[in-house]
Amino acid sequence: MSAEAAPSRSRKPVEYEVTVDRVRMDTHDTATLFLDFGETPPDYKAGQFINIDPHQFPALGRLSAFLQEQKGRKEPQRSYSMASAPHERHVAITVKDEEFIPGLTRYPPLLSPLLVHGRLTGARIKVLGFMGPYVLPEDVEQRTGHVVHLVAGSGAVPNFGILKDALHRNLKPRHTVLMSNKTWGDVLYREELESLERQYPDRVRLVHTLTRELDESRFSASVRKGRIHQALLEELIPDRDTCLVYACGPAITPWDRRKALETRTPATPRFMETVLGHLHALGIEDKRIRRETYG
Ligand SMILES: Cc1cc2nc3c(=O)[nH]c(=O)nc-3n(C[C@H](O)[C@H](O)[C@H](O)COP(=O)(O)OP(=O)(O)OC[C@H]3O[C@@H](n4cnc5c(N)ncnc54)[C@H](O)[C@@H]3O)c2cc1C
Repeated sequence: MSAEAAPSRSRKPVEYEVTVDRVRMDTHDTATLFLDFGETPPDYKAGQFINIDPHQFPALGRLSAFLQEQKGRKEPQRSYSMASAPHERHVAITVKDEEFIPGLTRYPPLLSPLLVHGRLTGARIKVLGFMGPYVLPEDVEQRTGHVVHLVAGSGAVPNFGILKDALHRNLKPRHTVLMSNKTWGDVLYREELESLERQYPDRVRLVHTLTRELDESRFSASVRKGRIHQALLEELIPDRDTCLVYACGPAITPWDRRKALETRTPATPRFMETVLGHLHALGIEDKRIRRETYG
């Protein structure tokens, strides 16, 4: 996942210098950084993101210079969705340490390894915020009675913030959260989500799909084997004319597209392309689908 998203036009993003209050390892490759913005609570909406400029970290100076030379362009800021909701004390971002697979991945990742493994607790860092239209509409209660969250891997981040915010504000729509992961150990916010489901049994339904889980005892009605498929969406979304879908996860990257053009082979659809295809096949209109792509 690699991209710098364009700031939304609604409010000009502001640069903040914040303290990393603590770093929590969530899975083997993913960590949540809790950011302290000081006395004044920052003004943002659940589901939005911040940008972090890798050039501020001296530890990345040489790698950044090398990558810039290789790629022939300045390394852009990286975007990170907020895992937190505005009522929470800290702004939280959850970052996945991008893989580098020799022979498959073109360059090593720049910023995510430092954010995840760099022991940044106590560090002062600069962030630019807050941006992005991946938020609930003001009149969500008039628009729908059912918010469907379709997320893969770290795509769970903004939806977790949106869900917590909606429940905190006691908004009426119920929520179905469908999460796609490789294994049970990869599921983000598992305990917090289960606790929300217990706390709001009429408002929150959690369903997992696991593509590479070897422990068969994990599977049940709420933990399905394989990928998200059309029949599952049909089962979970009976109200296809009135639901509001928030889909977030990896999509075909610009580099995949370039490679596809060069090799004249179509780029392999990723989570977002696949899921959007299913939603359209089920007749869910585009205006009912909000999307955040990390590709
Ligand atoms: C709106 C938004 C929200 C996001 N939220 C999150 C989030 O909550 N959590 C999260 O973990 N991530 C999130 N991301 C992704 C994040 O912004 C970074 O892209 C991610 O952390 C990887 O950054 P990196 O510097 O570690 O890796 P990068 O240096 O960006 O590299 C990532 C991959 O891209 C490839 N690549 C980079 N440049 C090129 C090139 N020129 N040609 C070919 N291949 C190239 C590399 O080989 C590598 O495989 C979000 C992205 C967006 C747009």
